[in-house]
Amino acid sequence: MRLILLGAPGAGKGTVAKLLTQIDGSVQISTGDILRGAVRDGTDLGKEAEGYMNRGELVPDSLIMGIMGERLLEDDCKSGFLLDGFPRTIPQAEELKTLLEKLNIDLDFAVNLNVPKDVILDRLTTRRTCSNPECQAIYNVKSMPSKVEGICDKCGSPTIQRDDETEEAITKRLDTFNEQTAPLVDFYRDEGLLLDVNATSSDVVVSTIKEKLAG
Ligand code: ADP
Ligand code: ZN
Repeated sequence: MRLILLGAPGAGKGTVAKLLTQIDGSVQISTGDILRGAVRDGTDLGKEAEGYMNRGELVPDSLIMGIMGERLLEDDCKSGFLLDGFPRTIPQAEELKTLLEKLNIDLDFAVNLNVPKDVILDRLTTRRTCSNPECQAIYNVKSMPSKVEGICDKCGSPTIQRDDETEEAITKRLDTFNEQTAPLVDFYRDEGLLLDVNATSSDVVVSTIKEKLAG
């Protein structure tokens, strides 16, 4: 499958993407994960991106398009891809459209994960992520805790709060989303690609997507 996952921070894009990869081997491509990896490795890209990320602002479109232009050419994308956190601005969506046309790739849908605001805020402040870069499992101290507090079930590494998950950065990320990313819903509706789903439960999102793909 070839999907774009749209939704506010905390809407569950990463969780849904991970569940979908298990269905048909499509790869999850998360620009947030790629950028955090670059920050961790101290690359030039990471150095450029870090400040924007910690402030809850978007990284410049040119950096993101550089990353994605290369990523989409890699072999593993041939079995399908789930774009998690990209595109995030209208210029990114326009450039992606041109790029996919050039590569002769059709998208199935852009899935809009709709979640009420209070649920979003609650999820973001209670989210924990596995600190092991190879794992990055996602937990929630209230609704999906790890078996041992602070320790990842899958790999035993500590689970942590991300640097951009302070209250201040979260508020800023939500503002950024409303200003720059929410307009993509109309963009994809106009393209005839929008699938709008109620995303309070990730399992329901996955079954809705499966049904729509089946026809
Ligand atoms: P979330 O969806 O939970 O906010 P992500 O992991 O997708 O988090 O992104 C974390 C940060 O990385 C964003 O706040 C932003 O600074 C940067 N980022 C990720 N994807 C993009 C993108 N497509 N365009 C611009 N900045 C991005
Ligand atoms: Zn882990």
